[in-house]
Amino acid sequence: MKEYRMLINGQWVDSASGERFPSYNPYTEEAWATIPQAAESDVDRAVQAAREAYRTVWSKTNGLERARLMMKLADLLEAEAERLAELETADNGKVIRESLKNMKQAARYYRFFAGYADKIYGEVIPMDQTHLFDYTMREPIGTVALITPWNSPISILANKLAPALAAGNTVVIKPSEHASVTTLEFGELVRKAGFPDGVVNIVTGDGTVGNFLTRHPGIGKISFTGGSATGKIIARNASENLIPCLLELGGKSPNIIFADADLDKALAGAFAGVFGGAGQTCIAGSRLLVQRPVYEQVVERMMERIRAVRLGNPMDPATDMGPLANKPHYERVLSMIRTGEAEGATVAIGGKTGYERGLEKGWFVEPTLFVDVNQRMTIAREEVFGPVLCILPFDDEEEAVAMANDSKYGLASGIWTRDISRAHRIARRMECGQVWVNTYRINAAQVPFGGVKQSGYGRERGMHTLMEYTVVKNVMVDLSV
Ligand code: NDP
Repeated sequence: MKEYRMLINGQWVDSASGERFPSYNPYTEEAWATIPQAAESDVDRAVQAAREAYRTVWSKTNGLERARLMMKLADLLEAEAERLAELETADNGKVIRESLKNMKQAARYYRFFAGYADKIYGEVIPMDQTHLFDYTMREPIGTVALITPWNSPISILANKLAPALAAGNTVVIKPSEHASVTTLEFGELVRKAGFPDGVVNIVTGDGTVGNFLTRHPGIGKISFTGGSATGKIIARNASENLIPCLLELGGKSPNIIFADADLDKALAGAFAGVFGGAGQTCIAGSRLLVQRPVYEQVVERMMERIRAVRLGNPMDPATDMGPLANKPHYERVLSMIRTGEAEGATVAIGGKTGYERGLEKGWFVEPTLFVDVNQRMTIAREEVFGPVLCILPFDDEEEAVAMANDSKYGLASGIWTRDISRAHRIARRMECGQVWVNTYRINAAQVPFGGVKQSGYGRERGMHTLMEYTVVKNVMVDLSV
């Protein structure tokens, strides 16, 4: 059993209370590491360290040097990718090839934003009064709180940490209590890369730690990925100190297949779009809207694909889908499936636990397909965050758009059609932050990502997110003096 410590001001420390909690492997169901439960005083120490590092060192470090450190960090992350992927799979059950991809993706994010670190500048603004000279500067915010969930700790952290560091901020990170190990291991890479003490701090523990952090008056901004319910608490906490937030929350994303689509591609995309990561992704295309002429065919072929899924040890490269990441979540997903059945939807395939299927251990839920679903059912409205897909038929474009937008969420959507005009027409009408056409669930460092409605606000990735971690200062000079 490995005992981890927290990173505060460049030192590995235990919590002030000495309290620890276990981290469980969702495949073996056994505790395999222990993590400190931070006290309020630890959070305070971490925030003070980050503020001091900002004041004394990081705000005086130029972009070229910040970029050099970030490139080093990316190299270290890539060199350790396999080891970290194994640790992450042990912590959250994601199949090893997906964990490895996440590590490499994270390294790409640090490189992408390192490229921006010495290219963040303002503008000169022409004035009506010619004796006035006006210009803007883009300055870092100061100290930012980064709160991450358990589904992809290292790549979600990279979405936040890479632009935050490039823009010149210092940070305090709080990973999920259900999967903190890789974030703490990553802290050692930050040290090895040579970042000054206090620039990156990591505190661990449950939601109370996140609560202390997001209410701390020393924090200048909160960047959060997680559930919409927690997002609302965080927005309320942020309002106490009137600081901005970036909230990347849940979704109930529609994937729309028209009868003229390339069905082989559409089925492959729709399948991977919802069952990747065992459905534990915010962008899961969990509502599949299918035009009536191909509805039966899509149901049949989706069932065939689901039937072929191999559940098993997530470390085994032959496994298609691992267990769900933690026990409370496993129970929540099962209860959502039971609710779907109770409300009248039909499980066409799946719906069982790994035990019911003959597996000896692990928090597995079979990939599940619901038919006979209508838009009022809980299973069609609420985020399951598990391997559960609802298929609903539609007649025409108008109906598809109305159904797609009939959701409190607005994160992503997919459109599968060979009619290019229709694809653009619908993309414009989708109430969401990301539209994929004839593809799904591809993301890239360059491409802005985020939601509307209850999927949150603010953007991650791309140059747009760099703006999230800076503030504009205006300087006006009277040249006649
Ligand atoms: P949460 O939203 O609760 O967790 C996300 C992060 O917020 C974790 O680090 C969590 O800590 C922390 N947190 C919890 N409470 C507070 C608080 N009061 N103040 C500050 N931080 C807090 O997600 P869950 O793990 O509970 O998952 C619940 C649902 O959220 C999922 O079923 C899914 O619908 C959605 N979700 C969405 C994700 C996305 O990518 N958009 C990712 C993960 C979940 P801790 O885990 O230690 O409690």
